Amino acid sequence: MIETGVSYFANGWLHHFERDLEDILAHNCTYIVHCFSENEMVFARQRTTQFFQKTRNAGLGCWANPWAVMGLFGGEQFSAFVPRNPDACQMLSTGQRAPAACPSAPETRAAMRLWLDMAIDFGADTIFWDEPHLYIPDWDDLHFAPDSAFACFCPRCRDSFQSRFGQPLPQAGPGQALSLQPEMRQHREDLMVDFLSEMIGYAHDKGAKNAITLLPVDDEANESLPWDRIADLRGLDIFGTDPYWFLHDKDCESFVHEQMKKTMAVCESRGLTPHFWAQGFGIPSGREDELETGFTVAVERGAQSIAVWGMHGNAAWDGASENPEKVWDVVGTTFGKLRNP
Ligand SMILES: [Zn+2]
Repeated sequence: MIETGVSYFANGWLHHFERDLEDILAHNCTYIVHCFSENEMVFARQRTTQFFQKTRNAGLGCWANPWAVMGLFGGEQFSAFVPRNPDACQMLSTGQRAPAACPSAPETRAAMRLWLDMAIDFGADTIFWDEPHLYIPDWDDLHFAPDSAFACFCPRCRDSFQSRFGQPLPQAGPGQALSLQPEMRQHREDLMVDFLSEMIGYAHDKGAKNAITLLPVDDEANESLPWDRIADLRGLDIFGTDPYWFLHDKDCESFVHEQMKKTMAVCESRGLTPHFWAQGFGIPSGREDELETGFTVAVERGAQSIAVWGMHGNAAWDGASENPEKVWDVVGTTFGKLRNP
């Protein structure tokens, strides 16, 4: 049977969560993707444990998402790690120190393992690796660096680049912008694949399942990651992408179809569960029914686990849908239909 999920964030009240649980069950969801940020790691351990336990007691799957943790994943959160570990941060092609950890640093890996220990000990059954990426300037609402900037030029990366390729990392002159050369692209891919390999294996060995969502971008895009190499990682169970057609200004059916085809090509030969996210935020009024189309096409093309980003049209955050209740209604009805065809 199709599994159906919803992300959860922006609430710390237990009594409110209990009501939300009823609401989530009534909307035919079978799992919750809890956004477990660095803030919760420090200030809300008990509350997180309660939320996770209540999720499981309600018979729902309990996924934990390292929400923007260390700036390495999707999400709208600041990092506590970054200002405390400046030497472990990514350096950009512009010479700026990025507000994101470099996966090559031992401190970054130790912090990620600490996050995993907490998430799994608190009760998560699945770790959700959401849009892992090196720093993307375009995503930074505070516009820290020009869009052309990319990582990583930290001393560790300089050393490993030199020993792998027998040449130093290129350096931009004053006022120059560097372009992403093939060797640098390879270095960036290896950096993320090696990091994810260690962390997914670690979570697997602790008894958790691993799900990953990679960005639905062209292979040539700076932020793209090698789907095949990541799908091969030991301990991975669920693999998918998030073709948000409203956000990318694409046609729903063709975008979902194209991305599901790519997803199935990766999943089928490896026995991975194909996963699909639809955008529940920023949906213009009158286009809510496209959600039913998107989910239905995804399931027809092979998705076995489908999820929506944000309950109630993501109205707890900026970027709400114009008619959030209508969005949530369509999600609930569609999930019900697809689970009981
Ligand atoms: Zn680095």
